[in-house]
Amino acid sequence: MLVRRALPRSTGLVLHQLPNFRQHIPVRAITAASMDKSVEYNFGPYKIRGDEVFCISKLSFAFVNLKPVVPGHILICPLRVVKRFQELAPEEVADMWSTAQRVGSKLEPHYGADSLTMAIQDGPSAGQTVPHVHIHVLPRKPGDFAKNDEVYDAIDRSAKSLPQMGSEQQQQQGQQGEPLDLDAERRVRTPDEMAAEAAELRQLFL
Ligand code: AMP
Repeated sequence: MLVRRALPRSTGLVLHQLPNFRQHIPVRAITAASMDKSVEYNFGPYKIRGDEVFCISKLSFAFVNLKPVVPGHILICPLRVVKRFQELAPEEVADMWSTAQRVGSKLEPHYGADSLTMAIQDGPSAGQTVPHVHIHVLPRKPGDFAKNDEVYDAIDRSAKSLPQMGSEQQQQQGQQGEPLDLDAERRVRTPDEMAAEAAELRQLFL
């Protein structure tokens, strides 16, 4: 008997025909070494300073988080500003997830973690607060959350204003693998703190 396998359905999106393609995609590949740190990147309505970006691929960029939920919680975005995952062309999906794989494999040992959480909140009802597709990548350690699924509550609430905690305390908690205090862990960082972390991470991609 002839068995027909269902082929994956194409989204029908062709990258170079998309309206804002030329506006966002650089003509030549940029490496961590050749990155121009004075260039700003769009993250939905926000501007991300070049010195907060640590890895760039053909169609995506990775940058440090304003309010990380755990040490090393970073974001990966398509260069093109699109709100929903379904609006991405297949090349952008492949590039963004390949970048997540590459970044995750470097970040995990760098932060002394043994696992990763990768997540997309795709649309406002799913918790998306910034209208530009992004993958959250979080290095994970044993016992970092008392209950594992609390990490998703933390990601979901990470864009809200919450009390701050010193970076020393945050680092100590992360290193010791103690359960994180969800409210205290999320904090807004200064541009200098974020640039320092991005500079450290850029070294992993030279
Ligand atoms: P979501 O709620 O899934 O849309 O995630 C938004 C993420 O963007 C949260 O983790 C925020 O901490 C992060 N975020 C918001 N604004 C900035 C910014 N200007 N720079 C870096 N990260 C940001």
